[in-house]
Amino acid sequence: MMKTVIFIGAPGVGKGTYTSKIVDKYGWFHVSPGELLRENVREKTELGNKIAAVMQSGDLIDDDLVIGVIKNAIEGKDSVLFDGFPRTVYQAEKLDDFAKPSLIINFVADEEKIVERLSGRRVCPECEAIFHVKNIPSKVEGVCDKCSGALVQRKDDLPEAIKERLRVFHELTQPVVEFYREREEFKVVDANSDDVDSIVENTMNIINVDQ
Ligand SMILES: [Zn+2]
Repeated sequence: MMKTVIFIGAPGVGKGTYTSKIVDKYGWFHVSPGELLRENVREKTELGNKIAAVMQSGDLIDDDLVIGVIKNAIEGKDSVLFDGFPRTVYQAEKLDDFAKPSLIINFVADEEKIVERLSGRRVCPECEAIFHVKNIPSKVEGVCDKCSGALVQRKDDLPEAIKERLRVFHELTQPVVEFYREREEFKVVDANSDDVDSIVENTMNIINVDQ
């Protein structure tokens, strides 16, 4: 039977970092719907052509199209990690039918912590390098280590914009969290610490118990 793991987490919670470390460690197949959609469009698969047509018409890509792409991608896989899916209760219900989750991990951090992490981010418009005023400082303040470009803060990373991103995230995701919350497979990992390794270790402990 396929092992299906879901990671849920707000922007700034560090989910991307935990995902890549865990995928490396266990060799799981990483499913990111956004990437899968782009890949299908690029490779002009049957679904990819449908997606391209929807995108060209300016319509939103509906749940069934996303689910179709995911179903194809995970066929024959032993273990998959979903990152950014399911986004709606409908998607979650459908997932139960073809790959019922064996583990759902919800990464949580306080809003102040998330704002601190995201608002400290600085990017280089020249080479796209990413720094953080506290966690990954550049050698010279405001100057890119790689190309000496002037670092900037993205509009998305200003505190007010971050709060809005979080509000939208919670509005969309809370119903999915509630859908899973009462299940035995639903676990919460505290992601407030700046010690990434300890968060990854806590996550692995939960995974190992589950295996
Ligand atoms: Zn640069």
